[in-house]
Amino acid sequence: MTEPIQIELPTIFEAMTVNSWLIKGEENILIDCGEKTDATWEALNKGLEKNGLTIQDISKVVITHAHLDHMGMANRITENCNATIWVSEMVHGWATNLNELLDRRSDAILAAILPNISKEDHDKIVDFGYKRLSPYWDEIPADRLHVFPMEGLIDFGGQTWEIIHTPGHCLNQTCFYQKETGWLLSADMILPMIPIPIVDAARTAPYEGGKSLMTHLASYEKLIPLNITKAFPGHFGILEDVPNLIENQKMRIHHRKEKCFRLIQAGSSSFMDLLEGIYKERINNATIFMVIGFLNILQSEGRIKREMMDGKWAYFANEVTIDAV
Ligand SMILES: [Zn+2]
Repeated sequence: MTEPIQIELPTIFEAMTVNSWLIKGEENILIDCGEKTDATWEALNKGLEKNGLTIQDISKVVITHAHLDHMGMANRITENCNATIWVSEMVHGWATNLNELLDRRSDAILAAILPNISKEDHDKIVDFGYKRLSPYWDEIPADRLHVFPMEGLIDFGGQTWEIIHTPGHCLNQTCFYQKETGWLLSADMILPMIPIPIVDAARTAPYEGGKSLMTHLASYEKLIPLNITKAFPGHFGILEDVPNLIENQKMRIHHRKEKCFRLIQAGSSSFMDLLEGIYKERINNATIFMVIGFLNILQSEGRIKREMMDGKWAYFANEVTIDAV
């Protein structure tokens, strides 16, 4: 069995590229496909050419999760060849009802952020609107879609891979695990750095934002028992020591969360104070989601409480009660 081949594609997030993984075999399959831009289209075709293929040789495109850099190009592919686009049950709505789901996600994100940060600060830190991402992303014709379940087995060119639902970075994210080789197509679940726990809207009304970092931590636990020898991530290169990488990322999340708690204990009550206290010069979209995550965990551990003060959440440590013996 030949290893997935990396085709690196440019993205609109300048410093960042995204991977399409080519699986060559009885049939040729792409895992993810980049954004709908001409630069991506060119890079994808060049990458296939380098491997002796054209887009007409691709029979399936499998989508790991509904983020534009992973599935935006899918429709353009269907316009240029006969490939079917394989999406999970939870990604399906993103292929057929894109703008409504983008609005729901964007509303859930803002509902999580704006009670913490002023609109001004938010617009300064986040230099793109979530809704403005839609030009790089198209819906996919229903007759070209093929739906796979959130858990179970899937065939990639005669090889059996296990579908693993790994929400956190994205509610509908799936990884694919090949038991005999220990290979994991890891999407944005396993990356060299901690994936951004982007708030995502629930699938049912009122479409509330989830606790993405807690969900992400639970997804690590699904992967730990596996015998992963190599991960083929959504961004950057192949990863080898996955168990150690997971352990380190779990530890880093834990330490930063504890730092967040100490800052609250020491009197920092506003979100901006916590964000600056933990991340100093790295105030951005990603670190906002991390701090939202730390606060979710500390609240669920019963160690902090929050109160609405002047339209913004203020965070306080809970009194430790020692039970009388
Ligand atoms: Zn990604």
